[in-house]
Amino acid sequence: MSPFQSWFSNIMNFKSDSSPEAGQSAHDPVAPNEVQYPSESLKSESEDTIVHISYDPLNPPPHPGANWTRFICISDTHSSTFNIPHGDVLLHSGDLSKMGREDQIKITVEWLRAQPHPVKIIIAGNHDLPLHQEWYKSAYRMFHGTKKESCSRIRSLVDSKLNRKHGLVYLQDESHTFQAKEGGRTWSIYGSPWQPYYGGWAFNYMPGDEADALVSKIPEVDILLTHGPPHMLLDEALSGGHVGCSSLSTHLSRMAKPPRLHVFGHIHEGHGALMHSWSPSDSEPSAGRHPSRSTITVNAANYPMGPKARLPNNTSVPCGGLGFQPVIVDFLDVTEA
Ligand SMILES: [Zn+2]
Repeated sequence: MSPFQSWFSNIMNFKSDSSPEAGQSAHDPVAPNEVQYPSESLKSESEDTIVHISYDPLNPPPHPGANWTRFICISDTHSSTFNIPHGDVLLHSGDLSKMGREDQIKITVEWLRAQPHPVKIIIAGNHDLPLHQEWYKSAYRMFHGTKKESCSRIRSLVDSKLNRKHGLVYLQDESHTFQAKEGGRTWSIYGSPWQPYYGGWAFNYMPGDEADALVSKIPEVDILLTHGPPHMLLDEALSGGHVGCSSLSTHLSRMAKPPRLHVFGHIHEGHGALMHSWSPSDSEPSAGRHPSRSTITVNAANYPMGPKARLPNNTSVPCGGLGFQPVIVDFLDVTEA
């Protein structure tokens, strides 16, 4: 297939996968209580981190206590809505919508605004087309034909005073700090919607200089949200091997203090979490390096794709269902170094 054909068939597959007939809506016939959810979690040796990847959604693991902060990680919800476990902070790593239409983004924003999590931080992804304003000016025809969306209206949907009143903050190549609890510690976060070129979607970059320039803007923060994964970490696509960004993994490996948590999505079939230790060979030697050179790495994509998207009885897994659940990350609140 030509690049255009493969891009087009990708869009068409996506559209057909996202139709209600495919069982991805709130009316999915498979109710949570009809599915066995195996328990899958990770715990750090220092016992300051617990990650829950698979759990009973009707009875999620209890919050570990007042001196812990619970992060709920979601991504690639593509205008689907589902029950999210409660926590202190809700993080969404982009692809808020199916195809960047105003009504599709509105569904997600209203759903997130209504969540009880005191802090909610979101970024865009390659499907949230009009949020890449400069690019959309000419690229809209390819995706939206003659029905052009208003970039300014969509930007004000995700980034508004009303949203901030509900604790919902949109980040696009920028940092932010927040307290999850009154009097608690301050967390720093950076959000970036970009990913390596694939099919000419929003926020695509070319490998090499363009990739380096974009990822070099990412500062040392506690939490990093990117839409795309780093190379070799939960980035294996069904077609085409490890498609994550090597500029991003190199940049993170060279940090004196890499992020404690990195959440992304984009490659839905790579959903999962791991504790990644950046080895000394990953980076150049640097004096005064922070002792903790590990990152909780989460591919939080909730929209099912790949072999796990179907249950053995051949029914579809709903968005956020078995194998694609929100990932729960519990951190003991240690004072910043
Ligand atoms: Zn997606």
